[in-house]
Amino acid sequence: MGLPAKRRTKQSKRERAAHFALVEANLTTCSHCKRKILPHRVCPYCGYYRGREVLKLEQLITKKAKKRSEKAAKKEKAREDKSE
Ligand SMILES: [Zn+2]
Repeated sequence: MGLPAKRRTKQSKRERAAHFALVEANLTTCSHCKRKILPHRVCPYCGYYRGREVLKLEQLITKKAKKRSEKAAKKEKAREDKSE
């Protein structure tokens, strides 16, 4: 493992740490659903960007739900096969 060649002084440690503070995200409001979102990004809640629908979130969600239910059914089947 690497070992520091020299001891870091209090001052140099503190100077480095001066840039560690977290900055609050600069949020804007979605033009469609009025929720707080990150600027220059598609709204993750409604899928709108600059006033028009870019992502069909409803379809994505139903697709995901479908996949999940299929997976669960597969698991259930495997369990049943094991118990027999
Ligand atoms: Zn939105």
